[in-house]
Amino acid sequence: MKLVYTNENNILVNHAKNILENEGVEVSLKNEHGSTGMHPQFMFLEVWVNNDADEKKAKRILEEIENPPETEEWVCANCQEKNDASFELCWHCQAPAN
Ligand SMILES: [Zn+2]
Repeated sequence: MKLVYTNENNILVNHAKNILENEGVEVSLKNEHGSTGMHPQFMFLEVWVNNDADEKKAKRILEEIENPPETEEWVCANCQEKNDASFELCWHCQAPAN
């Protein structure tokens, strides 16, 4: 088994686990029950791949989560202005994206 992901935020760790499982990677969570006796608040959950061969694939998938590719600008269908990908409404005419 190989450790591929850990984070102090258990929600993110569970998210990573779900994504890997959706990609067909068998994973296990460790430290889930605080077996080392530390206070749960200081317990980092860890995602481990069950098969060492999946380590590279898992890390590549997780890199994409943490560094999502830049999204494209979109062009308003109403007024043809360019909008930043993060805008949900056209900055110019308030029309919704797409
Ligand atoms: Zn517009």
